[in-house]
Amino acid sequence: MTARTCDIEKAAEVLRAGGLVALPTETVYGLGANAEDPAAVARIFEVKGRPPSHPLIVHIGGAEQLDEWVQDVPATARLLAEHFWPGPLTLVLRRGPRVPLEATGGLETVAVRVPDHPVALALLSAFGGGVTAPSANRFGSVSPTTADHVRAELGDGVDFVLDGGSCEVGVESTIVDVTGDVPSVLRPGGVTREDLEAVLGWPLAVPSTSRVRVPGQHPSHYAPRARVVLVESEKVVAEAESAQELGHRVGVFLPSAFAGTPVKAHAVVTVPDSLAAYARGLYGFLRELDWQGCDLIVATLPVEEGLGLAIANRLRRAAGPRSTV
Ligand code: AMP
Ligand code: MG
Repeated sequence: MTARTCDIEKAAEVLRAGGLVALPTETVYGLGANAEDPAAVARIFEVKGRPPSHPLIVHIGGAEQLDEWVQDVPATARLLAEHFWPGPLTLVLRRGPRVPLEATGGLETVAVRVPDHPVALALLSAFGGGVTAPSANRFGSVSPTTADHVRAELGDGVDFVLDGGSCEVGVESTIVDVTGDVPSVLRPGGVTREDLEAVLGWPLAVPSTSRVRVPGQHPSHYAPRARVVLVESEKVVAEAESAQELGHRVGVFLPSAFAGTPVKAHAVVTVPDSLAAYARGLYGFLRELDWQGCDLIVATLPVEEGLGLAIANRLRRAAGPRSTV
């Protein structure tokens, strides 16, 4: 389903009035506010239950608007913007005066991107300003990839939900810090390291996914209600069956190599063969197993290449220690 023109106009009106709009992007649904309205931005944190020190991403309508929001743009940032925008790449740059500190968690840097979704771009164009938006879910939980996910999770907390169908990429954007001499990847996401390296012409350091330490990146994030356990691929079936026997209601992420294998578990999702399809389905699978009442999910990590890096990062953190959130 695609939002109609009157919905876009209504959503832009809500943003102008200081309200919150859930908007589809190619990565996940965002919870958007006028980036220049500190009170509206503060409401995002309230509705999400997100600590105010966790910075948000400012969404803009085109690469040509970049200089309206940031300062000191290095040539590397322009190169990356030119190649990957609109698209699932977020650039961290020095904050311009238009960006309130409420949107950056008090930092002098700001994360910016141009989303590659016709509804998001239509909204940005109708609104005319920047829309700051984290994922439209409660802090720490699974990101939404359909409008129904947003409604189910945030309900009346959102003033207007724009429905743009299911998100094509399914995992969040890749975040690259371009404020230093060498760009560094803060979060793997929809643009692969390989694609970034091909454009830059040199290898990129990607921090160990389990040890990322930037504001807003906790060990436990993207987590369903069910506890997530990661094991080697060959052990998924045995681990699931023994937990089920112990009385758990087990959900299984069955690796595609084992598709068709009968598993004695509460619910089974067969992981798609292609990494793009896996990324697209990942959050929906986690939600589905929660809805089915699973209390434990057994999964394995994909090969950490291409989109596999982002999927592994999300799974590790879905399985991360929850007491530290
Ligand atoms: P979310 O929209 O929930 O995917 O969160 C956006 C993420 O972008 C945050 O969790 C931060 O990790 C990252 N981020 C946003 N702004 C900055 C910044 N100025 N410096 C470093 N990381 C940032
Ligand atoms: Mg999020």
